[in-house]
Amino acid sequence: MKIKLNEIKVGERIRKEIGDLEDLQSSMRDLGLMQPIIVDEQNNLIAGYRRYLCAQRQGWDEIEAVKVCPNNKYEKFVMELQENTLHKPLSWVEEVKAMEKEKQLYEETFPEATPKAVAIAACHHKRIPGLKTYVQAKSKLVSRSTKTVITKLTLAKLIKKYPELENEPTMQRALRKYEELTGKRYGTISDALLHRISIYCSKCSRKMQKSKWVYNKEQNVHTANYNCTECTNNIKCIVKGAK
Ligand SMILES: [Zn+2]
Repeated sequence: MKIKLNEIKVGERIRKEIGDLEDLQSSMRDLGLMQPIIVDEQNNLIAGYRRYLCAQRQGWDEIEAVKVCPNNKYEKFVMELQENTLHKPLSWVEEVKAMEKEKQLYEETFPEATPKAVAIAACHHKRIPGLKTYVQAKSKLVSRSTKTVITKLTLAKLIKKYPELENEPTMQRALRKYEELTGKRYGTISDALLHRISIYCSKCSRKMQKSKWVYNKEQNVHTANYNCTECTNNIKCIVKGAK
């Protein structure tokens, strides 16, 4: 089907570098559009941003398009991402930013799958079978370890704090640069991580209060006691590794 160019809605794009449009433009001028663009039911552009730009520059009124109907924002984003990475891989910066966005949309779409919701359900022995957090789902999908996924999500956060990391050619180099800048080792347990661990009482659902983390050098573990302020429930939490 054909749709009017001025009816197409373009949101924020994953890829920031659109690259050189000359070749595509001359091919579209000479041969027409070889591959339709993809939009959703509301004409939001899902794939074909470069083709859309060329059509606009050439003064086309309308363009050949295929309509798809993603069920939610998360599905729409995944479709866009797949189409985007089909022809040219994303840079590592684009990739980690896309992953962070994907996680946000996943958790908005499946609120029961946030780490917090899963932790609460687990305390109540009400784990939903088959339900995965974003990190678990993503690592299975791309057949990489959860650690790899977590590293990429961490980098998405780190480049906000240290924008100069974006200039590094690879993720590994960015991590080394981060170590240079901060004097910290990446991959060890951060204070932020230990601080974030929340446990909810299995009896009364209240957030449990934590004692200080204590490091045991021989076993290379951090331990803390969590106590419920309402009932007498208490739990010992053990995290492997040093700071
Ligand atoms: Zn309690």
